[in-house]
Amino acid sequence: MTIKRRVTVLGATGSVGTSTLSLVKAAKASGDADIAVEAVTANGNAEALAALAIEHGAKFAAVCDERAGPVLKEALSGTGIEVGVGPEAVVEAGQRDADWVMAAIVGAAGIKPLLAAAERGADIAFANKECLVCAGDAVLAAMKRGGGRLLPVDSEHNAIFQVFDFERPHRVRKIILTASGGPFRERIRAELKGITPAQAVAHPNWSMGAKISVDSATKKNKGLERIEAAYLIPVPHEKIEILVHPQSVIHSMVDYVDGSVLAQLGPPDMTIPIASTLAWPDRVPTPIEPLDLAQIGTMTFEPPDEERFPALRQARESLDEGGLATAILNAANEVAVGAFLNGHLGFLDIADVTDHCLQSTKAVGDPAALEAVLAADAAARNTASERIAALAT
Ligand code: NAD
Ligand code: MG
Repeated sequence: MTIKRRVTVLGATGSVGTSTLSLVKAAKASGDADIAVEAVTANGNAEALAALAIEHGAKFAAVCDERAGPVLKEALSGTGIEVGVGPEAVVEAGQRDADWVMAAIVGAAGIKPLLAAAERGADIAFANKECLVCAGDAVLAAMKRGGGRLLPVDSEHNAIFQVFDFERPHRVRKIILTASGGPFRERIRAELKGITPAQAVAHPNWSMGAKISVDSATKKNKGLERIEAAYLIPVPHEKIEILVHPQSVIHSMVDYVDGSVLAQLGPPDMTIPIASTLAWPDRVPTPIEPLDLAQIGTMTFEPPDEERFPALRQARESLDEGGLATAILNAANEVAVGAFLNGHLGFLDIADVTDHCLQSTKAVGDPAALEAVLAADAAARNTASERIAALAT
């Protein structure tokens, strides 16, 4: 049976966004899927967005950054594709009539368009982990009201989603999130001091956007994924474990009470988890080379190291603390990673900034209320900027 979807891609010009649109094209070409593209969005890269909108026959294209508006309008004039400009236009993209929405904006900037899509009942393919870390309760409540399905795209969560017994979550002993270890797995802490942005974004196994690549290097990514898992998978968060597996073949595992451990394996290419969410519960072929275990030969495992990578500890502690702590952690990290990428902060100081913000940001309120989350997010961004300025002097 053919898979029929009307899709919107939020963050269409990014690593996950372009992989999603390429997959949509391949699936259509295979004759296995009948997919129309409703809307595509980007932050400021109007030329790339216009090219994608034309290539994939989108009905609506929106840029968040107002300065990119004129270029987008010019590039799409005469094509019949509607154009939107500004943050509200990106929210409108979430509101438009697509039954499957890829949430692939990077950072908490993706919250409002995501909530718009969730409230109207779209199935959400969920890559934008910062939204769950920051506003997990609000996102889950919106999904519940809308009635759409939350389909995890992050490779670890997608793996768990594929092997988790949602009918019997009490039969799960633990879930095991695998981690590649990032580019600095074998370095001692002193060797991490002078790391440059170019070194940090060069991930050994995965090709990804700049922010998540830095997060992988600090291991904040795995910390954020622990928090993401706590929202996406119905197990107490104490049952979430992290295991370093440098080959990135096993994408995560579920350990059941009878001793069975179920895992999902595959080549490290995001096309595969994206395909699983696009076709769920069916499957579509992808152009990725099949996994060749004989060639891989060896798979190894080691425990995570919270001493060398304090980001792992910070995420665990903020999850334990609850309330708005994870929103503070996320916002502080976004600001710190941005400063690192711009050359204004040292690699090891990213963890200093997040620790400082967790200790000194004042935020109170209900974590399920969007206003409280956005206030905590803004307060943490302020504290982080002050700390970065202080470290620079
Ligand atoms: P990316 O930087 O390559 O792309 C980000 C996209 O978001 C771009 O289209 C950009 O234009 C858009 N964007 C950025 N800021 C925006 C703003 N303020 N308003 C509106 N749009 C904005 O990032 P990516 O690697 O594709 O990652 C996207 C999300 O998916 C992140 O949350 C990341 O953690 C998650 N993720 C990525 C991967 C991966 O392999 N790249 C894997 C798992 C999860
Ligand atoms: Mg991941």
